Amino acid sequence: MKTVDITTPSRIEMLDITSIVKNCVAESGVKNGICVLFVPHTTCAVTINECADPDVVTDIKNHLSSLIPCLSTFRHSEGNSDAHLKSMLVGFSEHLIINDGKLVLGTWQGIYFCEFDGPRRRKLHVQIIPQ
Ligand code: ZN
Repeated sequence: MKTVDITTPSRIEMLDITSIVKNCVAESGVKNGICVLFVPHTTCAVTINECADPDVVTDIKNHLSSLIPCLSTFRHSEGNSDAHLKSMLVGFSEHLIINDGKLVLGTWQGIYFCEFDGPRRRKLHVQIIPQ
């Protein structure tokens, strides 16, 4: 397993980590298999979505915040229950196909590390499983 350090610059972010994950696959030397991504945190997530138009990421972040606002009625004393809910909704892991040494992604797809309670120093675990 490889662990990548990620620094998030603000409270809510979707960082394009596609090149980071591609580098992990290349370094592994694995030609065919599965790449598992896992976020070991409770207020961030990992997902796949459009990487061509940056407005998509802006719309996703804004709409998630509309769906799950930071409410004063939340009981959790840390005050970040909205971040816990957003990360649960988006999810803590992804798995991708490695074919002929490359990640299989759609033309417009990129991999995003989602921060919902930054800025912080975070970790992403990457496990490459050969076929
Ligand atoms: Zn909390």
